[in-house]
Amino acid sequence: MTDIQFRSDVTLQLDDKMGDDAKVIRMAKASIKKTGGDMDEAARQGFINFLMRERHGVPFEHCAMTLYFEVPIFVMRQLAKHRISSISEASGRYTQMDGVFYRPVAQRPLIQVGRAGAYTFQQGNAYQDGLVQYVLAHASEAAYQEYEGLLEQGIAREVARMVLPVNVYTSGYITINLRSLMNLLSLRTANENATIKGHPQYEIELLAQRMEMYFASEFPLTYAAFEKNGRTAP
Ligand SMILES: Cc1cc2nc3c(=O)[nH]c(=O)nc-3n(C[C@H](O)[C@H](O)[C@H](O)COP(=O)(O)OP(=O)(O)OC[C@H]3O[C@@H](n4cnc5c(N)ncnc54)[C@H](O)[C@@H]3O)c2cc1C
Repeated sequence: MTDIQFRSDVTLQLDDKMGDDAKVIRMAKASIKKTGGDMDEAARQGFINFLMRERHGVPFEHCAMTLYFEVPIFVMRQLAKHRISSISEASGRYTQMDGVFYRPVAQRPLIQVGRAGAYTFQQGNAYQDGLVQYVLAHASEAAYQEYEGLLEQGIAREVARMVLPVNVYTSGYITINLRSLMNLLSLRTANENATIKGHPQYEIELLAQRMEMYFASEFPLTYAAFEKNGRTAP
């Protein structure tokens, strides 16, 4: 059996981007046949802030990022719910699934407390931490062994993969425009500055935080306006 690998992180890398803060302004200024090219930094920040505050969302749709990701399938399922995006994912029909599985760090909160819609999560005790580590390792190894066994018997990849659990990693690319990205960040991060605080699962928040890092570095004025206006999509 091939040795399997455990990870407790997600990969997110900027592959490509379209536009910049100046483009957001240029698209908005189309209405008055101007470009905003003569504006200084303070005026540009003020104008983008105005667009965000007044919920003029379309200019932000003209800018986008393409991001390469490696995430467990249960995170992929959450990511794919963001319909205003384009996703291309590795195929479990055309390629063999790698034996790479998610196993959380020991500090990941394990215990759900509260009522539906208002949960908080707390640390587990040492026994619960150990149990999760052991059972995930054991179940992942057993599942991958069965998967390889089915492939060795000539079973098609699309059938053999049915034995794999949702903590197996997948990979692909997502292209998402800034308006949709802001919606994703508002839902998939639990930031104290948000007008409406998100309640994301720990693992998709890891991914969203890395998306936010690229958003801040590639579109700093738009990002600052997002922060200033309660971290909601315009
Ligand atoms: C904490 C949390 C718990 C969740 N639990 C569940 C769950 O139990 N089960 C489940 O199935 N999903 C669940 N989801 C996913 C959630 O229901 C959304 O599918 C996901 O957050 C994507 O949000 P969205 O529709 O705003 O994004 P997108 O699909 O990217 O859409 C972006 C925006 O475009 C507009 N839009 C897109 N499609 C339409 C449309 N058809 N009609 C009108 N407007 C549209 C809306 O304004 C929308 O906000 C959960 C999400 C979170 C954050």
